[in-house]
Amino acid sequence: MDTIGFEELKKMLLAAVDQIKANHELLSKLDSFGGDGDHGTTMVRAMGCLEKGVADTNTSRIKDLLNNVGWSIMGVDGGATGPLFGSLFMGMAIPTDGKDAVDTQLLAAMFESGLTGVGNVTKARVGDKTMIDALVPAVQELRAAAKRGDSVEQALAAAAEAAQKGAEATKALVARFGRAKNIGEKSKGQPDPGATSVSLVFRGLAQGVQSHGGS
Ligand code: ADP
Ligand code: MG
Repeated sequence: MDTIGFEELKKMLLAAVDQIKANHELLSKLDSFGGDGDHGTTMVRAMGCLEKGVADTNTSRIKDLLNNVGWSIMGVDGGATGPLFGSLFMGMAIPTDGKDAVDTQLLAAMFESGLTGVGNVTKARVGDKTMIDALVPAVQELRAAAKRGDSVEQALAAAAEAAQKGAEATKALVARFGRAKNIGEKSKGQPDPGATSVSLVFRGLAQGVQSHGGS
């Protein structure tokens, strides 16, 4: 399809929630190696906030949906996750001002703006073994897909694959941010939990867009 609207975006967001809920035990296990083992439960709480943001949206504006979701996630208690993922969605809202449909160009712009938002709350860069290691390649892939003229579905499928590869590649890295930084070299060998979450979110978004009937 060429564009997605408010209802499709809602469905995609809820599909991302499903992915996190289905994999929360893995996320907490990954966080138990170098962190405090709470990433799965915090992400499930964040996804509860996402659902609340969706439910509380009483307009059919894409910008309101993303702002409500982002604002709600921002308020989740439990460490780094709220500000990081909240800023992502709040940032994504900015380029959707006045838009009621999202094409691949806008999708890329939304995630670029989301990445800028995340960049306002952390100095972590690619290679620091954080969620950034999955987010950056996914966003770059969306931009590449927009340049290729991919459909929204194709773009999200490619982004999900890039995020997964990015998350897997964090296995070989040493954590330089977050709690896992404290174990230094010992953080090698396991993927970063936050990067794994980003990869699951993209998988959910890609699945959510595929399951809609097309337009
Ligand atoms: P906490 O570390 O506060 O317990 P979580 O366990 O929910 O938070 O999330 C841990 C994940 O958050 C890490 O795997 C990493 O991807 C991400 N993270 C933590 N701190 C930072 C940071 N300063 N910059 C970027 N990402 C971070
Ligand atoms: Mg933790």
